[in-house]
Amino acid sequence: MHDFYSDTKTKPSRAMREAILDAPVGDEQKSEDPTTKALEARVADLLGKEAAVYLPSGTLANEIAIRVHCRPGDEVICARKAHIIEAEGGGPAALSGVMIHPIDGGRGHLTPEQVTAAIRPGNSRYQPRSRLLSVEQTVNLEGGAIWPLDRLNASLAIAKEQGLATHMDGARLMNAVVATGIDAADWCAGVDTVWIDFSKGLGAPVGSALAGSKDFIEAAWAAKQQMGGAMRQSGVLAAMCLYALDHNVDRLAEDHALAAEIARDVAQLPGVAGVLPADTNIVIFDLAEDQMDAADLTARAKSEGINLGVFGARRIRVVTHLDVDAAARNALMAFLRRELS
Ligand SMILES: *Cc1c(COP(=O)(O)O)cnc(C)c1O
Repeated sequence: MHDFYSDTKTKPSRAMREAILDAPVGDEQKSEDPTTKALEARVADLLGKEAAVYLPSGTLANEIAIRVHCRPGDEVICARKAHIIEAEGGGPAALSGVMIHPIDGGRGHLTPEQVTAAIRPGNSRYQPRSRLLSVEQTVNLEGGAIWPLDRLNASLAIAKEQGLATHMDGARLMNAVVATGIDAADWCAGVDTVWIDFSKGLGAPVGSALAGSKDFIEAAWAAKQQMGGAMRQSGVLAAMCLYALDHNVDRLAEDHALAAEIARDVAQLPGVAGVLPADTNIVIFDLAEDQMDAADLTARAKSEGINLGVFGARRIRVVTHLDVDAAARNALMAFLRRELS
Protein backbone atom coordinates (compact mmCIF):
# COMPACT_ATOMS: atom_id res chain seq x y z
CA MET A 1 0.00 0.00 0.00
CA HIS A 2 1.26 3.47 -0.93
CA ASP A 3 -0.31 5.43 1.90
CA PHE A 4 -0.73 9.13 1.10
CA TYR A 5 -3.65 9.55 3.49
CA SER A 6 -1.63 11.30 6.18
CA ASP A 7 1.83 11.66 7.65
CA THR A 8 0.35 9.91 10.70
CA LYS A 9 0.70 6.70 8.69
CA THR A 10 4.45 6.57 9.22
CA LYS A 11 5.65 3.51 11.10
CA PRO A 12 8.58 3.54 13.52
CA SER A 13 11.76 2.40 11.78
CA ARG A 14 14.00 -0.31 13.17
CA ALA A 15 16.53 2.28 14.36
CA MET A 16 13.77 4.23 16.08
CA ARG A 17 12.57 1.09 17.84
CA GLU A 18 16.13 0.29 18.92
CA ALA A 19 16.30 3.67 20.62
CA ILE A 20 13.94 2.26 23.25
CA LEU A 21 16.27 -0.49 24.43
CA ASP A 22 18.63 1.58 26.53
CA ALA A 23 16.23 4.36 27.50
CA PRO A 24 15.93 4.78 31.29
CA VAL A 25 12.31 4.75 32.42
CA GLY A 26 10.27 5.42 35.55
CA ASP A 27 6.82 6.51 36.66
CA GLU A 28 5.96 9.45 34.43
CA GLN A 29 2.94 10.41 36.51
CA LYS A 30 5.37 11.11 39.35
CA SER A 31 7.83 12.91 37.06
CA GLU A 32 10.23 9.99 37.55
CA ASP A 33 10.75 9.03 33.92
CA PRO A 34 14.17 10.38 32.89
CA THR A 35 13.65 9.90 29.15
CA THR A 36 10.32 11.71 29.16
CA LYS A 37 11.84 14.51 31.21
CA ALA A 38 14.74 14.78 28.76
CA LEU A 39 12.27 15.05 25.90
CA GLU A 40 10.29 17.75 27.71
CA ALA A 41 13.44 19.78 28.40
CA ARG A 42 14.51 19.39 24.79
CA VAL A 43 11.15 20.61 23.48
CA ALA A 44 10.96 23.55 25.90
CA ASP A 45 14.38 24.62 24.65
CA LEU A 46 13.48 24.06 21.00
CA LEU A 47 10.32 26.15 21.32
CA GLY A 48 11.85 28.85 23.54
CA LYS A 49 9.47 28.26 26.45
CA GLU A 50 10.09 27.67 30.18
CA ALA A 51 8.67 24.17 30.35
CA ALA A 52 6.92 21.42 28.42
CA VAL A 53 4.79 18.37 29.11
CA TYR A 54 4.67 15.14 27.10
CA LEU A 55 1.18 14.02 26.11
CA PRO A 56 -0.32 11.00 24.34
CA SER A 57 -1.67 13.07 21.43
CA GLY A 58 -1.82 16.46 19.78
CA THR A 59 -5.56 16.57 20.28
CA LEU A 60 -5.02 16.38 24.03
CA ALA A 61 -2.47 19.21 23.79
CA ASN A 62 -5.06 21.48 22.17
CA GLU A 63 -7.79 20.46 24.58
CA ILE A 64 -5.61 20.97 27.64
CA ALA A 65 -4.45 24.37 26.39
CA ILE A 66 -8.05 25.47 25.86
CA ARG A 67 -9.01 24.16 29.29
CA VAL A 68 -6.19 26.00 31.04
CA HIS A 69 -6.54 29.28 29.15
CA CYS A 70 -10.35 29.57 29.27
CA ARG A 71 -13.36 29.52 31.57
CA PRO A 72 -16.70 28.02 30.49
CA GLY A 73 -18.54 30.49 28.26
CA ASP A 74 -15.33 32.08 26.96
CA GLU A 75 -14.70 32.40 23.26
CA VAL A 76 -11.80 30.97 21.26
CA ILE A 77 -10.96 32.75 17.99
CA CYS A 78 -9.54 30.54 15.22
CA ALA A 79 -9.75 29.79 11.51
CA ARG A 80 -12.88 27.98 10.37
CA LYS A 81 -10.97 24.91 9.17
CA ALA A 82 -8.90 24.62 12.35
CA HIS A 83 -8.33 21.13 13.70
CA ILE A 84 -9.98 22.13 17.00
CA ILE A 85 -13.21 22.71 15.05
CA GLU A 86 -12.97 19.99 12.43
CA ALA A 87 -11.38 17.02 14.10
CA GLU A 88 -11.57 17.00 17.90
CA GLY A 89 -15.10 15.70 18.38
CA GLY A 90 -16.42 18.98 19.75
CA GLY A 91 -13.83 18.77 22.53
CA PRO A 92 -13.66 22.52 23.21
CA ALA A 93 -17.40 22.51 23.99
CA ALA A 94 -17.51 19.15 25.73
CA LEU A 95 -14.35 19.42 27.83
CA SER A 96 -14.03 23.17 28.47
CA GLY A 97 -17.48 24.64 27.78
CA VAL A 98 -16.10 27.27 25.43
CA MET A 99 -17.56 28.81 22.29
CA ILE A 100 -15.61 29.04 19.06
CA HIS A 101 -15.53 32.17 16.93
CA PRO A 102 -14.49 30.91 13.49
CA ILE A 103 -12.88 33.18 10.91
CA ASP A 104 -13.02 32.53 7.17
CA GLY A 105 -10.59 32.91 4.35
CA GLY A 106 -6.93 33.54 3.75
CA ARG A 107 -5.88 29.88 3.94
CA GLY A 108 -6.24 29.96 7.72
CA HIS A 109 -3.90 32.93 8.13
CA LEU A 110 -5.97 35.51 9.98
CA THR A 111 -5.19 39.15 9.31
CA PRO A 112 -4.74 41.64 12.16
CA GLU A 113 -7.94 43.29 10.90
CA GLN A 114 -9.86 40.04 11.19
CA VAL A 115 -8.56 39.46 14.71
CA THR A 116 -9.43 43.02 15.70
CA ALA A 117 -12.95 42.61 14.34
CA ALA A 118 -13.43 39.26 16.10
CA ILE A 119 -12.43 40.44 19.58
CA ARG A 120 -15.43 41.56 21.57
CA PRO A 121 -15.27 44.84 23.45
CA GLY A 122 -15.62 43.20 26.87
CA ASN A 123 -17.51 44.17 30.00
CA SER A 124 -20.72 43.05 28.35
CA ARG A 125 -23.62 41.53 30.16
CA TYR A 126 -24.52 39.80 26.90
CA GLN A 127 -21.49 38.82 24.90
CA PRO A 128 -19.04 36.06 25.72
CA ARG A 129 -15.53 37.01 26.76
CA SER A 130 -12.95 36.77 23.96
CA ARG A 131 -10.23 34.80 25.69
CA LEU A 132 -7.93 32.88 23.33
CA LEU A 133 -6.55 33.25 19.82
CA SER A 134 -5.54 29.85 18.48
CA VAL A 135 -3.45 29.56 15.31
CA GLU A 136 -2.34 26.51 13.36
CA GLN A 137 1.13 26.21 11.85
CA THR A 138 1.10 24.77 9.24
CA VAL A 139 -2.59 24.91 8.33
CA ASN A 140 -3.52 21.29 7.65
CA LEU A 141 -6.85 21.65 5.85
CA GLU A 142 -5.54 24.55 3.75
CA GLY A 143 -2.83 22.36 2.24
CA GLY A 144 -0.09 22.66 4.87
CA ALA A 145 0.01 26.42 4.35
CA ILE A 146 2.71 28.36 6.21
CA TRP A 147 1.70 31.58 7.98
CA PRO A 148 3.95 34.43 6.93
CA LEU A 149 5.90 35.36 10.08
CA ASP A 150 5.04 39.08 9.96
CA ARG A 151 1.33 38.43 9.59
CA LEU A 152 1.42 35.84 12.34
CA ASN A 153 3.15 38.19 14.75
CA ALA A 154 0.89 41.12 13.84
CA SER A 155 -2.24 39.03 14.49
CA LEU A 156 -0.87 37.66 17.75
CA ALA A 157 0.13 41.15 18.89
CA ILE A 158 -3.46 42.39 18.46
CA ALA A 159 -4.72 39.55 20.64
CA LYS A 160 -2.07 40.25 23.29
CA GLU A 161 -2.89 43.96 23.36
CA GLN A 162 -6.52 43.10 24.01
CA GLY A 163 -5.61 40.77 26.87
CA LEU A 164 -6.23 37.46 25.10
CA ALA A 165 -4.03 34.42 25.55
CA THR A 166 -2.42 32.98 22.42
CA HIS A 167 -1.92 29.34 21.44
CA MET A 168 -0.28 27.62 18.48
CA ASP A 169 -1.35 24.21 17.24
CA GLY A 170 2.09 23.33 15.92
CA ALA A 171 1.29 19.78 14.82
CA ARG A 172 3.48 20.51 11.77
CA LEU A 173 5.51 23.44 13.06
CA MET A 174 8.73 21.60 12.20
CA ASN A 175 7.60 21.43 8.56
CA ALA A 176 7.37 25.24 8.59
CA VAL A 177 10.80 25.44 10.24
CA VAL A 178 12.44 23.26 7.60
CA ALA A 179 10.60 24.93 4.70
CA THR A 180 11.53 28.48 5.76
CA GLY A 181 14.77 28.15 7.73
CA ILE A 182 13.13 30.17 10.53
CA ASP A 183 13.83 28.66 13.98
CA ALA A 184 10.97 27.06 15.89
CA ALA A 185 11.49 29.45 18.81
CA ASP A 186 11.16 32.42 16.46
CA TRP A 187 7.94 31.04 15.02
CA CYS A 188 6.40 30.74 18.46
CA ALA A 189 7.89 33.78 20.22
CA GLY A 190 4.48 35.48 20.00
CA VAL A 191 2.39 32.68 21.52
CA ASP A 192 1.93 31.80 25.17
CA THR A 193 1.60 28.10 24.44
CA VAL A 194 2.57 25.79 21.58
CA TRP A 195 2.93 22.09 20.92
CA ILE A 196 4.51 19.86 18.32
CA ASP A 197 3.41 16.42 17.23
CA PHE A 198 5.85 13.53 17.04
CA SER A 199 3.41 11.21 15.28
CA LYS A 200 3.07 13.24 12.06
CA GLY A 201 5.99 13.85 9.73
CA LEU A 202 8.53 13.22 12.48
CA GLY A 203 7.65 9.55 12.23
CA ALA A 204 7.26 8.53 15.88
CA PRO A 205 4.26 6.40 16.84
CA VAL A 206 2.83 8.31 19.81
CA GLY A 207 2.85 11.70 21.42
CA SER A 208 3.05 15.45 21.44
CA ALA A 209 4.73 17.96 23.73
CA LEU A 210 2.97 21.11 24.90
CA ALA A 211 5.16 24.04 25.98
CA GLY A 212 4.59 27.29 27.84
CA SER A 213 5.42 29.07 31.09
CA LYS A 214 6.18 27.04 34.23
CA ASP A 215 2.83 28.07 35.71
CA PHE A 216 0.97 27.09 32.59
CA ILE A 217 2.62 23.68 32.46
CA GLU A 218 1.77 23.06 36.10
CA ALA A 219 -1.89 23.79 35.35
CA ALA A 220 -1.62 21.65 32.23
CA TRP A 221 -0.40 18.77 34.38
CA ALA A 222 -3.51 18.97 36.54
CA ALA A 223 -5.67 18.83 33.41
CA LYS A 224 -3.55 15.99 32.00
CA GLN A 225 -4.11 13.95 35.14
CA GLN A 226 -7.82 14.74 35.18
CA MET A 227 -8.34 13.80 31.54
CA GLY A 228 -6.43 10.55 31.92
CA GLY A 229 -3.38 11.59 29.93
CA ALA A 230 -0.79 10.89 32.61
CA MET A 231 1.31 7.81 31.88
CA ARG A 232 3.75 5.45 33.59
CA GLN A 233 6.94 4.24 31.83
CA SER A 234 6.41 6.58 28.89
CA GLY A 235 10.17 6.74 28.32
CA VAL A 236 9.76 3.96 25.77
CA LEU A 237 7.65 6.37 23.75
CA ALA A 238 9.72 9.45 24.53
CA ALA A 239 12.87 7.62 23.35
CA MET A 240 11.34 7.31 19.91
CA CYS A 241 10.36 11.00 19.95
CA LEU A 242 13.94 11.97 20.85
CA TYR A 243 15.12 9.79 18.00
CA ALA A 244 12.67 11.64 15.73
CA LEU A 245 14.08 15.03 16.75
CA ASP A 246 17.62 13.79 16.10
CA HIS A 247 17.00 12.09 12.76
CA ASN A 248 13.73 13.07 11.16
CA VAL A 249 13.58 16.86 11.14
CA ASP A 250 15.94 17.88 8.33
CA ARG A 251 14.61 15.14 6.08
CA LEU A 252 11.17 16.82 6.05
CA ALA A 253 12.67 18.76 3.12
CA GLU A 254 12.42 15.55 1.06
CA ASP A 255 8.69 15.33 1.82
CA HIS A 256 8.25 18.95 0.76
CA ALA A 257 10.10 18.36 -2.52
CA LEU A 258 7.96 15.31 -3.29
CA ALA A 259 4.75 17.21 -2.46
CA ALA A 260 5.81 20.10 -4.73
CA GLU A 261 6.36 17.65 -7.60
CA ILE A 262 2.99 16.02 -7.04
CA ALA A 263 1.24 19.42 -6.87
CA ARG A 264 2.90 20.50 -10.10
CA ASP A 265 1.97 17.28 -11.93
CA VAL A 266 -1.58 17.12 -10.58
CA ALA A 267 -2.20 20.69 -11.75
CA GLN A 268 -1.56 19.52 -15.34
CA LEU A 269 -4.35 16.93 -15.28
CA PRO A 270 -7.46 17.89 -17.28
CA GLY A 271 -9.74 16.35 -14.64
CA VAL A 272 -8.40 18.59 -11.87
CA ALA A 273 -10.13 21.93 -11.27
CA GLY A 274 -7.49 23.38 -8.96
CA VAL A 275 -4.62 22.62 -6.58
CA LEU A 276 -3.82 24.57 -3.42
CA PRO A 277 -0.22 25.79 -3.30
CA ALA A 278 1.85 23.05 -1.63
CA ASP A 279 3.99 24.98 0.88
CA THR A 280 5.06 21.85 2.76
CA ASN A 281 4.03 18.16 2.66
CA ILE A 282 0.29 18.41 1.93
CA VAL A 283 -1.31 18.58 -1.53
CA ILE A 284 -5.03 19.38 -1.68
CA PHE A 285 -6.78 19.37 -5.04
CA ASP A 286 -10.31 19.56 -6.39
CA LEU A 287 -11.79 17.32 -9.06
CA ALA A 288 -13.46 19.03 -12.01
CA GLU A 289 -17.28 18.92 -12.16
CA ASP A 290 -17.33 16.42 -15.04
CA GLN A 291 -15.26 13.87 -13.09
CA MET A 292 -16.29 11.18 -10.62
CA ASP A 293 -16.47 12.42 -7.05
CA ALA A 294 -13.72 12.17 -4.47
CA ALA A 295 -15.16 9.09 -2.74
CA ASP A 296 -15.27 7.15 -6.03
CA LEU A 297 -11.74 8.15 -6.96
CA THR A 298 -10.32 7.14 -3.59
CA ALA A 299 -12.18 3.80 -3.69
CA ARG A 300 -10.60 3.08 -7.06
CA ALA A 301 -7.22 4.17 -5.79
CA LYS A 302 -7.52 1.88 -2.80
CA SER A 303 -8.23 -1.13 -5.00
CA GLU A 304 -4.88 -0.40 -6.64
CA GLY A 305 -3.01 -0.10 -3.38
CA ILE A 306 -3.01 3.70 -3.14
CA ASN A 307 -4.59 5.39 -0.11
CA LEU A 308 -5.80 9.00 -0.48
CA GLY A 309 -7.85 11.30 1.76
CA VAL A 310 -11.33 12.65 0.99
CA PHE A 311 -11.79 16.17 2.34
CA GLY A 312 -14.99 17.25 0.57
CA ALA A 313 -17.29 15.96 -2.18
CA ARG A 314 -14.68 16.79 -4.84
CA ARG A 315 -11.64 17.43 -2.66
CA ILE A 316 -8.68 15.06 -2.28
CA ARG A 317 -5.73 15.28 0.10
CA VAL A 318 -2.32 13.72 -0.56
CA VAL A 319 0.30 13.84 2.19
CA THR A 320 3.97 12.98 1.76
CA HIS A 321 6.07 11.52 4.58
CA LEU A 322 9.00 9.25 5.28
CA ASP A 323 7.17 6.09 4.23
CA VAL A 324 6.35 7.25 0.68
CA ASP A 325 9.07 7.68 -1.90
CA ALA A 326 9.53 8.53 -5.58
CA ALA A 327 8.28 5.06 -6.58
CA ALA A 328 5.07 5.65 -4.61
CA ARG A 329 4.75 9.05 -6.28
CA ASN A 330 5.12 7.40 -9.69
CA ALA A 331 2.40 4.87 -8.87
CA LEU A 332 0.14 7.68 -7.66
CA MET A 333 0.69 9.82 -10.74
CA ALA A 334 0.21 6.87 -13.12
CA PHE A 335 -3.14 6.20 -11.44
CA LEU A 336 -4.24 9.85 -11.49
CA ARG A 337 -3.18 10.32 -15.12
CA ARG A 338 -5.25 7.33 -16.14
CA GLU A 339 -8.34 8.36 -14.17
CA LEU A 340 -8.27 12.13 -14.62
CA SER A 341 -7.19 12.69 -18.22
C1 LIG B 1 -3.05 15.80 13.57
C2 LIG B 1 -3.38 17.18 14.03
C3 LIG B 1 -3.79 17.41 15.34
C4 LIG B 1 -4.04 16.30 16.33
O1 LIG B 1 -2.92 15.53 16.61
P1 LIG B 1 -3.08 14.01 17.08
O2 LIG B 1 -1.71 13.68 17.55
O3 LIG B 1 -3.51 13.25 15.86
O4 LIG B 1 -4.11 13.98 18.15
C5 LIG B 1 -4.04 18.70 15.71
N1 LIG B 1 -3.88 19.72 14.86
C6 LIG B 1 -3.49 19.53 13.60
C7 LIG B 1 -3.31 20.72 12.70
C8 LIG B 1 -3.23 18.26 13.12
O5 LIG B 1 -2.88 18.08 11.86
